[in-house]
Amino acid sequence: MSYDLKGKRIWVAGHRGMVGSAVVRRLATENCEVITAGRDTVDLKRQSTVERFLDEARPDAIVMAAAKVGGILANDTQPAEFLYDNLIIEANIIQAAHAADVNRFLFLGSSCIYPKLAAQPISEVALLTGPLEPTNEWYAVAKIAGIKLAQAYRKQYGRDYVSAMPTNLYGSGDNFDLNSSHVLPALIRKAHEAKVTGAKSITVWGTGSPRREFLHADDCADALVFLLKNYSEAEHVNVGSGEDVTILELTQLVCEIIGFKGEIVHDLSKPDGTPRKLMSADKLTSLGWRPHISLRDGIATTYKWYLQQL
Ligand code: GDP
Repeated sequence: MSYDLKGKRIWVAGHRGMVGSAVVRRLATENCEVITAGRDTVDLKRQSTVERFLDEARPDAIVMAAAKVGGILANDTQPAEFLYDNLIIEANIIQAAHAADVNRFLFLGSSCIYPKLAAQPISEVALLTGPLEPTNEWYAVAKIAGIKLAQAYRKQYGRDYVSAMPTNLYGSGDNFDLNSSHVLPALIRKAHEAKVTGAKSITVWGTGSPRREFLHADDCADALVFLLKNYSEAEHVNVGSGEDVTILELTQLVCEIIGFKGEIVHDLSKPDGTPRKLMSADKLTSLGWRPHISLRDGIATTYKWYLQQL
């Protein structure tokens, strides 16, 4: 399968987010036209506005990077928004895409769709084989529904809709708010602030023993454009680096890159979440894609971006 992007009009939904903006930058190197729509023009939670927008814009393809996202605490404390917002946004966009005769669609989910205790590395077939991790099941259920919705339009209407499941992502444009962020930007901020204030320690949530896989948003965008051009099947595809680290190892790496030499303290009142979340990258690798940005280089450039924002 080869989908030629040349001359195509592609709507990147969620272009202001970390992933969406990386996809827009990556698509700028292709011979296509990128369409974006700000929150002020299209409220993705309102069906009629999404329908009207797509009816007028008539893109050839859509990359759906719009979502309500957040780290373990945000997920755990705002279950209603994580479930409702994600369900309504994806349902609106997919239905309106079909109604406007958009035949190519790339839906984005997350590695949290898999069972809490899935065999590692987690392959695509592990979906719906066991109970979810409770701290992010709301988000996971919405994203599983999105995969199924894309599959349903493929099955019933022959639509060329596909899904990609990125692992934990980080990079420029990430959220550094300690209450709602994911672990990597939180650690960058904590280590930086501890360094400049001369603090003796930084506090890390949980035991530090959970293992997580990380992928830079620019690598993710590259993989997504690769899939848009080369993949057309019902089953979703994992998008990851194929390697994981413990949260403690990650903290030590971040501290080393930033130059913070103090102690690492654990806050055991905060949740660990799922013990391990490493996806199998075999399917994407066999299709012909692999990442280019190492975790060390990715953290260093993300730290540079963070400093520029301060
Ligand atoms: P998860 O992959 O859905 O669990 O999301 P996170 O990226 O928020 O958390 C990953 C792991 O890092 C969990 O075990 C957290 O407890 C741990 N962690 C350690 N320190 C922090 C922190 O400051 N912020 C966040 N979000 N997670 C942290």
